[in-house]
Amino acid sequence: MEDPGTQQDHVIGTDLATTNTYVAQYMNGEVEILENPKGGRSTQQNQVIGIDLGTTNTCVAYYANGKVEILENSEGKRLTPSYVFFPKKSTSPPIVGQRAKRMGDKIPSNGIYETKRFVGKSFNAMEPHLQHFSFNVENKLDSPVIRIERDNDTLELTPQEISSLILKKIKKDVEDKLGDKIDKAVITVPACFNTTQREVTLAAANQAGFTVLKLFNEPTAAALSYFFKKDDENDCYALVYDLGGSTFDVSILKRTATNIDVICVDGDTELGGNDFDKLIFDYVCEKMEEYNYNPRQNLRQMRRLQEKCEDAKKNLSTGEETSIILDGFIPNSEAIEVKLKRKDFELKAHELIKRTINIVNKCLNESQIPKNQIQHVILSGGSSRIPIIQKELSKYFDGKTLSKFNNLDECVAEGAALQAAMLTDNNTQKIKKLAMTEVVPLSLGIGLWVDRMRFVIKKDAPIPTTNTIRVLTSQNQQKTANFEIYEGERLIIKKNRYLGSLELENITPAPPGQCKLSITFSIDHNGVLEVKATEQINNNMKRLNVKYTRGGRSESEIEDTLKDAERNREEDELFDVFSKQKLYLLQYCEGVKYNLGTLNIIEKHQDVYRLCENIQTKGKTMDVDDKDELEYLIREVENQCAFVVKSCKFKNMPVRPLLS
Ligand code: AMP
Repeated sequence: MEDPGTQQDHVIGTDLATTNTYVAQYMNGEVEILENPKGGRSTQQNQVIGIDLGTTNTCVAYYANGKVEILENSEGKRLTPSYVFFPKKSTSPPIVGQRAKRMGDKIPSNGIYETKRFVGKSFNAMEPHLQHFSFNVENKLDSPVIRIERDNDTLELTPQEISSLILKKIKKDVEDKLGDKIDKAVITVPACFNTTQREVTLAAANQAGFTVLKLFNEPTAAALSYFFKKDDENDCYALVYDLGGSTFDVSILKRTATNIDVICVDGDTELGGNDFDKLIFDYVCEKMEEYNYNPRQNLRQMRRLQEKCEDAKKNLSTGEETSIILDGFIPNSEAIEVKLKRKDFELKAHELIKRTINIVNKCLNESQIPKNQIQHVILSGGSSRIPIIQKELSKYFDGKTLSKFNNLDECVAEGAALQAAMLTDNNTQKIKKLAMTEVVPLSLGIGLWVDRMRFVIKKDAPIPTTNTIRVLTSQNQQKTANFEIYEGERLIIKKNRYLGSLELENITPAPPGQCKLSITFSIDHNGVLEVKATEQINNNMKRLNVKYTRGGRSESEIEDTLKDAERNREEDELFDVFSKQKLYLLQYCEGVKYNLGTLNIIEKHQDVYRLCENIQTKGKTMDVDDKDELEYLIREVENQCAFVVKSCKFKNMPVRPLLS
């Protein structure tokens, strides 16, 4: 038995170092580091990590002792594949990372990958891409749900749940590594992620046990990492070209000694490295036709071939030619070699690259910064390694040398860790703080009853931001109002993305156009939208966070955004005239009905009342193609009602819009 007397001689030493606090004791002639309650050997001080939650890989970093460090996972790797595997045995827990990827090669239907592409999207928006995936995706209330068959049950998981499983592994590995509880993080998202996609990411992080200090835009994170290492503090403009696994972002920002201010963002959440893989995949499938073989028919082989195509693409970033060897694909056949030259790949990739350059061009035009004033063109995202992309981008900037990271796969996580340190009041960690301003990636607005977008917050407004608009009730004695919330740049509401709706009840009944409602949109520092509606008479107020209900862009809508701006403008101008006339027609009919009612002369003018009702019903469903009929209806209703409107001195009648 130990002599209790000697225990009093224990001296505990504490090293209150910058990041980790170690506690040691001297006992029996030896120094021993004491473990903290979690079994780790050190205690972190208010540690916040930065996470780049990528489509392909996830990377974690933290800031300590004046520099950023990448945190290796439990397998000792700096990148964790964003891959989850569900074993067939129902009692076995899901596996995340490199091992999941290996298991997925064996049982493709249970290996889940690239779920970031599904985040916040509707089933319809994802449907055209589903043949690319070797797992099963089903439609549940227009949301994509991943269905996994196991021995004794079937699992249904949302993209949010898969993301949260990845983040749970990250959390556990980081805690094991640092020896303490880590529950705060800065998580990066594509700049062009919409409010729904951001909300889903936040929910996934919360589900994994993280409190998110900030959702940080990936290109801004890359820019922070880039500028942090540069001593030069002169004011300058930079453009970040960020092409990852499934998304493309462009961000133009201004760096000063104290700030990094984003001026303009643009991008495409449907464009990334896997589109380049697909070009090679389609090419190989074509070549295989002469062997009467279709790799898409076998999930396992499809998956294997996709990986081979991705490897081929990467090989072409350094070599001039590559081979894709298909061994064991066709039964009883020898291995088949499909050769691909870099220049042929470049020809195939031409359209995709052009799409990225067009977005760069559009973003520059919107920012109104001449391209010769962009001092730094920063490459970010794994796909920016493709040589032809670098060549075309440099050509666009008149031969400018592009700024490249040595650690391209880690720069976004590094930026997130720097931002985390800047946001944390940790006296022990000295870091030069830079103020960061982000902008709204897409305009937001509401649909009025003529399907016209009324913009509430415009694209590129600095966030956080808030704006209120006023609207009037349109119908007589209206008790409820339903506002549909949309995101996009088009005046024709159907061309934008539906985000959700807000219903305001118990409105004070009033004549048409007499009750004032106000709608406030607020966007917080994470880019998440909150909508509030109030009635001005009695302070009746309803507020909601816009929840994902349908949303997601359909293929035709994407095509639409890619059509040239001029065509969209003409179409919007036509719609502008049409929607004003339609609104007038509907308000006119409502006004006649209201006046007949208040003057108690409906009986006497039944034919006029019924005509207005019929025209209103017809008018509501009309769209821009029916503009001639709309004009006819306006003339018809005005002619038929003119006498009674004038002789009975109707009030609150709308004024016909002045149209050019
Ligand atoms: P990120 O999401 O930024 O990690 O980027 C992942 C994408 O980068 C994937 O589509 C990869 O295939 C692609 N990628 C990684 N390395 C290369 C390379 N050497 N050449 C071309 N694409 C690459």
